[in-house]
Amino acid sequence: MVYFVYSQEYSRYDFGKSHPLRPERYYLTYLLAKEYGLFSKLDLVEPEIFSEEVLQLVHSREYIDYVKEMSRRGEGYLDYGDTPAFKGCFEASFLHVRGTLTAVKKAIETGEPAVNIAGGYHHAKRSSAGGFCIFNDIALAVKYLEERGYRKIAVVDTDAHHGDGTQEILYSDDVLKIDIHESGEYLYPGTGFENELGVGDGYGYMVNIPLLPYSGDTVFLKAVYELVIPLIKWYRPQIIIHQLGVDTYRGDPLTHMALSIRAYEKLVSVLISVLSEISSKYVVVGGGGYLLYAVPRVYVMISAALAETKLSKEIPLKWIKLYEKKIGERAPRFLYEEATWGREPAKGFPEKHVLALIERLKKKLSDIHGNIF
Ligand SMILES: [Zn+2]
Repeated sequence: MVYFVYSQEYSRYDFGKSHPLRPERYYLTYLLAKEYGLFSKLDLVEPEIFSEEVLQLVHSREYIDYVKEMSRRGEGYLDYGDTPAFKGCFEASFLHVRGTLTAVKKAIETGEPAVNIAGGYHHAKRSSAGGFCIFNDIALAVKYLEERGYRKIAVVDTDAHHGDGTQEILYSDDVLKIDIHESGEYLYPGTGFENELGVGDGYGYMVNIPLLPYSGDTVFLKAVYELVIPLIKWYRPQIIIHQLGVDTYRGDPLTHMALSIRAYEKLVSVLISVLSEISSKYVVVGGGGYLLYAVPRVYVMISAALAETKLSKEIPLKWIKLYEKKIGERAPRFLYEEATWGREPAKGFPEKHVLALIERLKKKLSDIHGNIF
């Protein structure tokens, strides 16, 4: 059974009407899975109770208290202006953390894959919020696993943005961290370049793969096949935490990437096959994704792939009706339908860039670790 962690309360992580991170994304994903009848194949579980102390595995006491105070006040910003405070923001963000920790707990207890769509807060740092992220559930998951004796953990981050918070927190840790994203030259947070390789024990365990804007499936999957897969085979993690943001989608309003809906299915299926080869556990957490037209379909599709289930290409009618009533926009009719307004992948430059980047990274990483590729 695949675990699907969900709570009706997930939508309380709500920065307000005009904010691009829409709270409807959770319910719409849950409902689409339900209408597809997927919960006969997925074990739907609620986030478990964890003591608030768990946050201190990563975050400073001062920062946790600051979030609590802002959560009581319910106004102003937690950072420089991207991440508004709202009433209950402490409880709402802690619930998402609990969701990720529940997914991790299920995966290690049973060996089965687990998904928490309300996770992936990779911009949150030890003592600061950033980029819509309050607590870094990914780094917390790593520390939680380390406390339980896990020594080989990998974090794969395929969100369009660089996971600067995760990188900062785990920079000197020999957890393998691979981050594919749109280059910081063009996109927030402006970090994640190939020469950011980690420090101390962590040197060579931070692998940044910055892609050019308008990179499509071919370029993205090239980086996966040539770098991510060999690195995972070499490192042989006991467990992988995959931050799977959907803002790499071609119609996403905040980024400039050009992936199609099918790219996510390919990405997850190649990871599933390599992980079964090396008997690694797999936890998928959410991430960015600012187009409701794509986000629920992607998360339902990858949950189905994990459960080895084929979905009908036609989207269930009840979901379409509810989507259109709630969102006031045309809903997708088909599983693989693409946004007509989406960016087409650019020809030439992004591919040339990734091929050269792959060669440089292969050389550099082999210089550090010996022959990997
Ligand atoms: Zn993102």
